[in-house]
Amino acid sequence: VDTADEIGDLAQTINTLAGKLERVEQERQHLEQVRNDFLANVSHELRTPLTAMQGFLEALQDGLVEEEEARQKYYAVMYSETLHISRLVDDLMDLMKLENNEVTLAKFPVDVETLMNKVAFSFGPEAEEKGIEIIVEQPKGLPKVYADKDRVAQILKNLVKNAIKFTDEGTIRLSARSNGQWVEISVSDTGIGISPDDQERIWERFFKVDRGRSKKNKGTGLGLAIVKELVELHDGQVTLESEPGKGSVFIVRLPALNCERSVS
Ligand code: ADP
Repeated sequence: VDTADEIGDLAQTINTLAGKLERVEQERQHLEQVRNDFLANVSHELRTPLTAMQGFLEALQDGLVEEEEARQKYYAVMYSETLHISRLVDDLMDLMKLENNEVTLAKFPVDVETLMNKVAFSFGPEAEEKGIEIIVEQPKGLPKVYADKDRVAQILKNLVKNAIKFTDEGTIRLSARSNGQWVEISVSDTGIGISPDDQERIWERFFKVDRGRSKKNKGTGLGLAIVKELVELHDGQVTLESEPGKGSVFIVRLPALNCERSVS
């Protein structure tokens, strides 16, 4: 009887182990899939500007572009493609560091209003070119946030850059309010909006709505993934409200500076 029991126990242990092994294998396959998707995405994102540059270079090399004016245009396009590649590489490095917990924040009390004004100012010319007005609503008595100023600026820049990119004309509004322990900063636009299905996916790296049209969208598809990582690193939250055809509002919640911290 003892032996039979022992065999029974052993069989059960083996079963449990087999189950565990299967789960580990599934996880391994999942990670491999994620890695492959990632590499495929990076290759695709690099391939597109490289192919364009190759075409232009070949035409120039073969002496097919005779007019000086046309040649200058070719150079300008190639230059902007190299900028795109640089941006992609910078964003990738940034995202990798964030995902690997290699980014340390230099946290200090930060005045959100000053930051909103600075970011709005820096995008002024770009917005004006598209007939977009950027309005900063001046908040009253807003507490400071305890944050890394450069990183919060990066968050706002990414959001405003998108707002400009996906708005044909209209208004981009930056505002902030205090809500309990949070300071809520919102960036709203009157642009193309995002469908409910896509709203869930836009935080994924490389995800772009409507890839077919993305020739016009010179983004890297990494901006919002970086925003999310940065906000969460600040123990904050970022959410989105959007209606296709009407516009989008991105809301970033950051911890308000509390009394103890402002004293110390
Ligand atoms: P990208 O470099 O393409 O802008 P992001 O990660 O910043 O990458 O954004 C991902 C996608 O989310 C964009 O390609 C776009 O389809 C959508 N999106 C982001 N912001 C907005 C916005 N304000 N209005 C409409 N769509 C947006």
